Amino acid sequence: AANNQLRQKAHQMLPEISRYPDGGGFLLKQALAGQLGVESSQITLGNGSNDVLELITRAFVRPGQGVIVAQHSFAVYTLAAKSTGADLRVVPAICWGHDLEGMAEAVDSETRIIFIANPNNPTGTWVSSDSLIDFLNSIPNHVLVVLDEAYFEYVEEENYPDGIRLLNNFPTLIVTRTFSKIHGLAGLRVGYSVSSSKIAEILNRVRQPFNVNTLGAVAALAALEDEEFVMESRTLNREQ
Ligand SMILES: *Cc1c(COP(=O)(O)O)cnc(C)c1O
Repeated sequence: AANNQLRQKAHQMLPEISRYPDGGGFLLKQALAGQLGVESSQITLGNGSNDVLELITRAFVRPGQGVIVAQHSFAVYTLAAKSTGADLRVVPAICWGHDLEGMAEAVDSETRIIFIANPNNPTGTWVSSDSLIDFLNSIPNHVLVVLDEAYFEYVEEENYPDGIRLLNNFPTLIVTRTFSKIHGLAGLRVGYSVSSSKIAEILNRVRQPFNVNTLGAVAALAALEDEEFVMESRTLNREQ
């Protein structure tokens, strides 16, 4: 039933598809900002969060500069890094999870980005609040830390961190989230990052002007209001 509502909203927009989408994503960013407790200027919308992960890499990494990922982490980081000619360092996993200390030790003066998937896909491992904060405190400020929270909304563990609440303390942190997973909108391709306004301003300069389509934007907006669907998805996931 919940998903029907989104289909209806998208359907109502069909007569509008001869027009370009709102390139600034005004309504969706405003709604996200309200729900997440951030400013609209901190948000960068993408054609899925995949798009944003690539944007971040393209905007901040020159050929030969360093990108650090964990072994067995989400494949897109490696693809994005390789396509920009980055010097990729893969830090061996510990029990299938990120070795945050090892990743911090791999940083040098040429490192630009560290990717952390929390929780990770495909291994399902996650890093705790305490270990993430210790890690962030140890990272010099020429390095961006990208915290990929594609599955954030599913996690019910106590010591699981909310990256968005850490942004004020760690200005080089970028958090990515998506409408593809708990909201069930993978086919419409809408994701976003939340960062400092300064970083978001750069990402918004680099992205394609219409990277989020009309139907995706309207369905994502409706999905944000559909708390019942989110709760059902979370319960279904827990039970399975
Ligand atoms: C699915 C997934 C994404 C990307 O999803 P989009 O559909 O591009 O928003 C990013 N990171 C992880 C860990 C994922 O599992």
